[in-house]
Amino acid sequence: MSEKYDLAVVGGGAAGMAAAVSAASQWSAGSGRLKIALLEANPRVGKKLLATGNGRCNLTNMRIAPERYHGDADRILPMLGDFSPQYIIEFFASLGLLCRELDEGRVYPYNLQAAAVLDVLRAQLERFHVETICGFPVGKVEKSAAGFLVSGPEHKIETRSLVFATGGMAYPQLGANESGYAVLKALGHSCTPLFPALVQLKTDSRRAKPLKGARCAAKAALLADGRPAGQSRGEVQFTEHGLSGICIFDLSRLAGEFRNAGLEVSLDLMPEFSARQVAEFLKRRQTALPFLPAADLLNGCLNRMVGQEIMKQVFPSLKKRMGDLNERELSSASNAVKGFRFPVSGTLSWRDAQVTAGGVPLREVDGAMQSRLCPGLYLAGEVLNIDGDCGGFNLHWAWSSGILAGRSAALALKNGKR
Ligand SMILES: Cc1cc2nc3c(=O)[nH]c(=O)nc-3n(C[C@H](O)[C@H](O)[C@H](O)COP(=O)(O)OP(=O)(O)OC[C@H]3O[C@@H](n4cnc5c(N)ncnc54)[C@H](O)[C@@H]3O)c2cc1C
Repeated sequence: MSEKYDLAVVGGGAAGMAAAVSAASQWSAGSGRLKIALLEANPRVGKKLLATGNGRCNLTNMRIAPERYHGDADRILPMLGDFSPQYIIEFFASLGLLCRELDEGRVYPYNLQAAAVLDVLRAQLERFHVETICGFPVGKVEKSAAGFLVSGPEHKIETRSLVFATGGMAYPQLGANESGYAVLKALGHSCTPLFPALVQLKTDSRRAKPLKGARCAAKAALLADGRPAGQSRGEVQFTEHGLSGICIFDLSRLAGEFRNAGLEVSLDLMPEFSARQVAEFLKRRQTALPFLPAADLLNGCLNRMVGQEIMKQVFPSLKKRMGDLNERELSSASNAVKGFRFPVSGTLSWRDAQVTAGGVPLREVDGAMQSRLCPGLYLAGEVLNIDGDCGGFNLHWAWSSGILAGRSAALALKNGKR
């Protein structure tokens, strides 16, 4: 005999835990309690949550707006509308967690420890008697007279209602895989093509390696066949594979959309200055330091490693001193500072990506996150075709859609509708 529940939440990540807590808290004392199970494939819930924000968990952003989302972002508003950043901060305050805002609207737990976020969620699951069953990789969901039969290799349960929050493909080392999509497809859902997002862009290793470890502030533009396709601003980090950093992550989604073909990244390394102003400054530096090697021309304004590499690339056989550079050479150097280009050969793989672009189309769920194809089934989080920019936007979506799915499922059960 399989154990029977009112509600089963599949996936013990951010969206699934928020859904379970939200569903459980809908039933006030005296009105009876929902029997809720949280089914997680990993040996523990919330493994990915601990890795977020470099262990600090950037859990929302004060600048939440539909334009910070991609995929079916044009359909996100009815679902995101009630869930302001303040709502999420208040949600966590009600669970006993204080948050703080740091740079660029990013919100973290006050103690800057992701574990604090997981701790309050787990405590609430316990408080509301949610039965957490770990080591339960759900492989099959069948419709039954009472609702759904949910099974994995070693478990089988029956439930009246189901929230699916199995996440995406990013970071398989923490358990992400495609099993959730497969189960949803068997229930009639579709899935748009999936590709890694918020991930490093790869370039020619001969271009990347000499710069490995350097960081600089830049305005980065993604060029498709030489034409600007998108831009972002922030710190760029150079790695052995290519380019990383938040502004590159934000462009990686667009690169994936173009299937990484015919793409370049152009870095403006002095975005506050025009090319003419940069040239003027270089002229002054030349006048002040004519005896230094020309290779040091950019040291006064750029990261030394980056400046010297630009000079090497613009003038491969440059042996002059600074004072011997002519106007044309100064202008070439300033143009390179304003447009340091890298061919893009692709992105790193799922193992290095923070989020999944693509998923179950939002048109397949209603404004309460209920499946339009399979009543009683609710979807939340990254498994849907929504992904956000770097900066707390993805967890904001996970919490919001999870809270909404859990609340909707619980209210439908309470009202006797499945
Ligand atoms: C390294 C890293 C850092 C990040 N940092 C941030 C950040 O600071 N801010 C931010 O907003 N976003 C961040 N993200 C993105 C964010 O973590 C995700 O978007 C978010 O966790 C998605 O929540 P989810 O609940 O939909 O999926 P997940 O958190 O991935 O949870 C899904 C859960 O379902 C389980 N599961 C999967 N399949 C099954 C199955 N068949 N049966 C049972 N269980 C299953 C998984 O094991 C997992 O526990 C980061 C991501 C990574 C990888």
